[in-house]
This record gives sequence, C-alpha cells and structure tokens, in this order.
Amino acid sequence: MSLDISTLFLVATLICALLGVMLHYFGRQEKIPALNWWGNAYLLGAITVALWKVLGPAFGETATLALASIGFVACGMMWNAARVFHGLKPNWPGLFIGALVWLATVATLPPDQEALRMTIGAAIVSGYAGLTAAQLSSERRKAMQRRWPTMLVPLLHGAVLMLPIVLADLWPSPQAGIAGNVWVMLFAVELVLYAIGTVFVIFMLVSERTVTMHKTAASLDPLTGLLNRRGFSEACARMIEREADAGRPVSALIFDIDHFKSINDRFGHPAGDEVLKLFAIIVSSSLRISDLCGRIGGEEFAALLPCPIDEAVTAADRVREAFQNCGIEVDDAPVATTVSIGVSGGPAGVELDVLLAAADTALYQAKRGGRNRVVATVEEPVSLEQSRRKAAQSRDHRQVAVRGGAVGQAVA
Ligand code: GH3
Ligand code: MG
Ligand code: MG
Repeated sequence: MSLDISTLFLVATLICALLGVMLHYFGRQEKIPALNWWGNAYLLGAITVALWKVLGPAFGETATLALASIGFVACGMMWNAARVFHGLKPNWPGLFIGALVWLATVATLPPDQEALRMTIGAAIVSGYAGLTAAQLSSERRKAMQRRWPTMLVPLLHGAVLMLPIVLADLWPSPQAGIAGNVWVMLFAVELVLYAIGTVFVIFMLVSERTVTMHKTAASLDPLTGLLNRRGFSEACARMIEREADAGRPVSALIFDIDHFKSINDRFGHPAGDEVLKLFAIIVSSSLRISDLCGRIGGEEFAALLPCPIDEAVTAADRVREAFQNCGIEVDDAPVATTVSIGVSGGPAGVELDVLLAAADTALYQAKRGGRNRVVATVEEPVSLEQSRRKAAQSRDHRQVAVRGGAVGQAVA
C-alpha cells in the first residue's frame, strides 16, 4: 500500500478543522468553556499544518520551522482545556513555553542538527501530552477505571511521537529527507487517529459530567439545598456500610419544626419557606462536616451521625438551642421557632430504616412531652419489624427524655 504524504496531511488538516468547528459549536450550545479551548486547539492545529504544507515552501526552511511553534501553542491549549474542564484557571506561561523553547531551538541550533531539533520538538509535544494525561488522572480517582481512555490517548500520542526519535538510530529511514521519511507518514496517520481519539475522550468526559450533574440535581432539595429523601437515603447507605466495616456505631436524628402550620398561617407561605431555609442552615452548620443531613419531608429533616447516641444527643440539643435563639423576624415581628428532635442509635451495620423508625418514635414522644426538646431511645433497635411492633405497643413506656428545652423536663 502506498500512501501519499501530502494527501494524508490534507486529510489530517480537514479533520482537525472540522472537529474544531464541532467542538466550538457544542461548547457554545452547552456553555462549556473547556470545549471552546479544545475547539481552538484543533483549529490552531489545522492552521499550523495547512501553513506548513501549503505556504511553507514559499517561506524558506527557517520560517517554516518557526511556523511549527503555533502547533506547540495548540498542544498547550489541549492541556489548558483539560485544566479549564476541571475548574482550574488557564496556565498562560505554560501555554506559550513550548513555543518559546521551540523558537529558541530553531534560532540557536545549526541547520544540520536536524535530529536534535526533531527530538526537542517531539519532547515538547510529549511533555504537553503527559501534562494533559496527568491533569485528567488527578481528578476523581474513584472513577479511574472508567477513565482510563482519557489518560491512555494522550500518553500514546506522546509515546508515538517519541518512538521514532528513540528508534531512529536502530532503524534509520531508507530514504533521506522529510518527504521520503516513513516517520512523517506515520506521524500524519497518528495525527488523524489522535485527533479523533481525543474528541471521543472529550465527549466521554462531558457526558460523564452531565450524568453526574443530573444525578446530583435529583438528590437535592431545591428550597434548602440539602439532600432530599432519596439523596439522603443513598448517602446514608454509603455511610452505614463504611462505619460497619470499621465496626463503629451510627446515630439518626429526626427534626420536626413545631407548629409550623401556624407559622404559615400567620406569616404566609413565603415566610414559612424562609424559616425552612434558615433551619437547614442551622442544622448543617451545627453538625460536623462528616455528618449527613437532609430534608425528608415538608418541615421534617433528618441527620445521620457516625457517632454513639450520647454524642448525637449533644449535637441535637445544639441544633434545638440554635433554632430557638435564631431571632428570625417577619415584618419586624419576631417569630417563635422551636423544633422537636428524636434520636436513635444503633450498633455497627444497623439498617437505616430501623434507625429512622426508632428516631421517629422518639420524636413522637418529644411532641407529646411538650415540644422543643430532644428525646432519645433507650434501647438499640434490633430489626425494623420488631421496632415497629414495639413502637405500636408501648410508645408511652419505653422512651426517656434525655434533654429538655424551654419546657425542660425529662419524659418519664
Ligand atoms: P407539629 O408541632 O405537631 O409538628 O405541628 P406542625 O404544624 O408543624 O405540623 P403539621 O404536620 O400540622 O404541618 C406541617 C405544615 O408544613 C403543613 C404544610 O403546609 C407545611 N409545609 C410543608 N411543606 C412546606 C414548604 O415547602 N413550605 C412551607 N412554607 N410550608 C410547608
Ligand atoms: Mg411534620
Ligand atoms: Mg411540625
């Protein structure tokens, strides 16, 4: 099979340009700045190859070599696109350093040092490819198995470019000169494959991110920004598994704002929403970063803490006190805000539903005991079935109040 190098480069140029326009189009449509960076890199790459092949001969050798520096800026753009995609700022000195090194090489090396010049050029491209792969691998180590192509493609690109340099002495080209060099042909083929492979990787990353964004949105409560019931359950399942592996207990809290209907009735629904938002802030700022909290119903919130029940009761009382003293006002009139909290604790590996059912029973007791208080279950819940049966049979006898608020006393 004989391949015409000029045709190969023409195809490479057109493919790069087309992919560049496509990336720009999607970048604008989806408002993803990194896609514009990638698109610019492709367009610049296409321009470099076009100038080099079409206008190069008219410019003379040194000018043609200097033109290649635009290509190194394109490589820097690929790396910066990966940075921007991961929320980092573009590295401007890094963007131009490769081109500057190349220009210095062209200016200082005598024309007969072609091999060394090629080695430096390939090393610059490989360096950028390595940086791009490192950038893509530094993110989200958990998802690495699915992300292996994102690192493999740039690494292969760097390796393919360096290979002819390493092997040149062992396997010299049969003909001298650029046009007859088999490596130039291989480079053109590799360029096309790399350009297409990279776009595949880019769209893989974008689609992964979109899926993650939708998943996150489906797990959050839009009013308070806390996890919703579904997100809370999923996050709790992960925490329970992790704590069970370490043999540590977990505790659940259920919060129910007192007389919330009356707040809505007196001050209006929007004011009620403000109280819910404020309560969400109080809960999340009163708990530790390792604790989980979510809004599981209208004015009901829940939390899961990786700690024994006595520590959870202390945390619950902190929330109760902070909410009571928050001093929220509507139309300059103070709104009395209190919350009742049920707390339950379980051994390592206890089911979430079991914990929540027990905490719910404790909450019921707190409401009956006068509200604005924390009640904790004495017993550790054994199974969902058992705890529900017990709760139905003897709600009044098997709870004790651990701490009271304004109303204050323990519930016997
Ligand atoms: P208790 O002390 O027994 O808990 O009384 P409560 O009034 O807090 O309880 P109830 O269950 O009677 O009322 C809950 C109210 O919460 C009724 C509902 O209109 C209101 N609510 C539920 N979701 C929202 C919301 O998103 N925004 C607002 N403003 N109100 C909500
Ligand atoms: Mg309620
Ligand atoms: Mg309520």
